[in-house]
Amino acid sequence: MNRAQPAPSAVVVGGGILGSLSALALSRLGIDTRWVGPREPAQRDDAAQARAYALAPSTVRLLERLGVWGHLIDTAQPVVRMEISQVAPRARFDVLAADLGEPALAQMVVHADLMAACEATVEAGVSGLQRTEAPLAESDLIGFRDNLAHRPLGASLVVAADGAQSVLRRRSGLLWSRRDYGQQAVVAAFRTEQPHGGVACQWFGPAGILALLPLRDPQVVSMVFSVGHATAATLMAASPQDLAARIGSESGHRFGELQALSEPTAVPLVMIAVNRMVAGRMALVGDAGHTVHPLAGLGLNLGMQDLLALEAQLLAAQTTQGVKGFDPGAGRILRAYACNRAVAVPTVQWGLDALYRFMSSSLPGLPAARAWGMQAIHSLKGST
Ligand SMILES: Cc1cc2nc3c(=O)[nH]c(=O)nc-3n(C[C@H](O)[C@H](O)[C@H](O)COP(=O)(O)OP(=O)(O)OC[C@H]3O[C@@H](n4cnc5c(N)ncnc54)[C@H](O)[C@@H]3O)c2cc1C
Repeated sequence: MNRAQPAPSAVVVGGGILGSLSALALSRLGIDTRWVGPREPAQRDDAAQARAYALAPSTVRLLERLGVWGHLIDTAQPVVRMEISQVAPRARFDVLAADLGEPALAQMVVHADLMAACEATVEAGVSGLQRTEAPLAESDLIGFRDNLAHRPLGASLVVAADGAQSVLRRRSGLLWSRRDYGQQAVVAAFRTEQPHGGVACQWFGPAGILALLPLRDPQVVSMVFSVGHATAATLMAASPQDLAARIGSESGHRFGELQALSEPTAVPLVMIAVNRMVAGRMALVGDAGHTVHPLAGLGLNLGMQDLLALEAQLLAAQTTQGVKGFDPGAGRILRAYACNRAVAVPTVQWGLDALYRFMSSSLPGLPAARAWGMQAIHSLKGST
């Protein structure tokens, strides 16, 4: 890190979405912030570039507030309906934005567009924000753990947004666990024969959990297929025509014939959980502190909730103590953040884990019971 620059009050580590948004949020609170934010390579090891995110309304509001949404408006696709189906026995229920009084259930954006929008917002200039494009060096981490309660990385507050493989989490001494789902998420984009109409579809089938998500082009969808390793290997080895035919058949040709637009990518699915989201003056945000099964598209949204919770605690402290002399890494602020996340994060992580097990189990009677429940919801909605 550049020792010639004045010492910041906060250091944010992580060149991804949560890193850039945390740096923006802190500097907009008037906190001098150094963002250790290396530019992402065109292809990341975890194939994140191929992903599309379903952004929840609360996430969109945060992006609006941070000035990022304006760069995304022309690329985002509103999701107006979700169709959730079980393949055998056949059952389905729908969720409609109109029923909830919302214009959209979510906004679909692709990783590269969201990252570019974050970068453009930072480049437009934000007072109090300095960026370092070099990643943390080994020498920056000497004595990191011993210094966590004092001035880690030379700052009052460190925000660790360095992703699922977080070096800062590993070096902090926090306890964490890694649970392997024995599945991979295979991701690819397809051109559809029929327009998607803003409809997102998900099928729970014998091969795995398949989602086709609408992108801005009215005839392009993003696929996430969570499958066992053997099926993932088959899908990855398939020709573009065979892959499109297989996904067309798995989706019951919901959008007609498909044409593969990209090489598929695959990423192993794991749940990472920590015992606490705070160590000394360091707060974890995003995948550095938790990963979840992608079946509900909640991972990034959960990270955004971390950032909202941290921002709320910092704002509350500023309101009572004033902006001058305020210590962003004070124990009271980070304890309140840790308490908030100690409830919210496991609720989502274990809730999704339970949902995954419930929807994937083939215990006798369970598929039929699921079908009955889904069909009942579907017909109730149809009769209102
Ligand atoms: C298949 C799939 C589909 C998904 N779909 C959805 C969805 O629809 N909706 C949703 O909400 N979520 C979804 N997710 C989850 C979502 O992708 C993640 O939760 C999100 O990308 C995490 O962002 P992050 O910034 O915390 O971490 P990352 O994206 O991993 O970013 C971490 C960054 O830190 C950088 N870094 C690492 N080490 C250092 C260092 N020492 N110094 C500086 N920088 C460093 C990395 O290079 C990277 O740029 C999905 C996940 C998967 C696997």
